[in-house]
Amino acid sequence: MSDGISLTILGNQGPYPGRDGACSGYLVRSGRGAVCVELGPGSLAHLQRHTAVTRLDALIISHYHADHLSDILTLRYALRMAQQRGTLAGALRLVLPAAGMDEFLASYIGAAYRELFDAVPVEDGSVVNIEDLVFTFHRMKHGVESFGMALQRRAESGSAGDSASIGVADRRVLAPKPAPALSPATSRATLGYTSDTGPCEALEALAATSRVLLAECGFSEAPVDVGGAGHLWPDYIGSLARGTGLNRLILTHFAPDADQPALVRAASEAHGAMVWGAAIGETYEL
Ligand SMILES: [Zn+2]
Repeated sequence: MSDGISLTILGNQGPYPGRDGACSGYLVRSGRGAVCVELGPGSLAHLQRHTAVTRLDALIISHYHADHLSDILTLRYALRMAQQRGTLAGALRLVLPAAGMDEFLASYIGAAYRELFDAVPVEDGSVVNIEDLVFTFHRMKHGVESFGMALQRRAESGSAGDSASIGVADRRVLAPKPAPALSPATSRATLGYTSDTGPCEALEALAATSRVLLAECGFSEAPVDVGGAGHLWPDYIGSLARGTGLNRLILTHFAPDADQPALVRAASEAHGAMVWGAAIGETYEL
C-alpha cells in the first residue's frame, strides 16, 4: 500500500562527501508538494536531476551542521538568478531550528539574500504543513540541537475531520507540548527521519511510530561511550527496529570510508529483516 509520498536520495554521506559522493539531502514529494530535507555538500547538484529549485515548496534543515546544509550557500545564487529571470514565484520557505536561527540567517544567508527565504522556526513538537505534507519535529540527541521528523500526508480537503480548515496560509502550526504521540495502532507516520542523533527516547518513539525509518548510520560500530554518542551504528539501529513493525529501514549518513554493504548487513542481522542502504538517485515509493 502506498501513501502517495516518494523519497529520493540526493546525498547519503557525512561528515564530508567522499569521491563522487554527496552529504545528506532528501527530496520528498507528493502529488502536490515537493520538499527538500537537508542540503549537504553535493546534494544541490543531485536535486536538479529530479526537480528545479524554483519548484520546491520548502527546504527543511534538521540542525546547524555543515554536512546538512552547506549547499544553501550556492542555492542562494540559484534562487537569485531565477529571480532575475522572473522564474521565481516567491521566497523559498526555509524550515529551521529556532535556537540559532537568527545567527544562521545572518551569517549563512546574509542580508543581501534574506528576501529569498521565508524562515519558519521549529521547536520540539512543532508541526509544519507544506501543501499536503505534514512534518512533526522531535528533538533528538546530538552535539547541537537536532530535529528528527515524522512525515505524513494530510487527507485531501473535504474529507473527515478538520483537515479542510488547514490551508496553505496556515502553513505553520505549533502544536502544544508534548508532541502528540502517534499511536502505532492507528496512525503510523509514513516516514520517520532520525536526522543526526545518538540513542534517545525520542528516537525510540519515532522508530515505533513510523512505517519507514530513514536512519543515520554515522558510526560503523558502537563507540566507547555509548551513552554519550551523537550518532548511530548498525547493531543499535537494527536492534531498535526489531519488533517495531517497521515496513522498511533505510540507512544513510555513511562515513565516506565506511564499508556500506557491511554496515547494511550488520544492521540487517540485528534487525532480523532486510535493510536498505540509501544510494544517491534512488527513489522509494512510500
Ligand atoms: Zn550533525
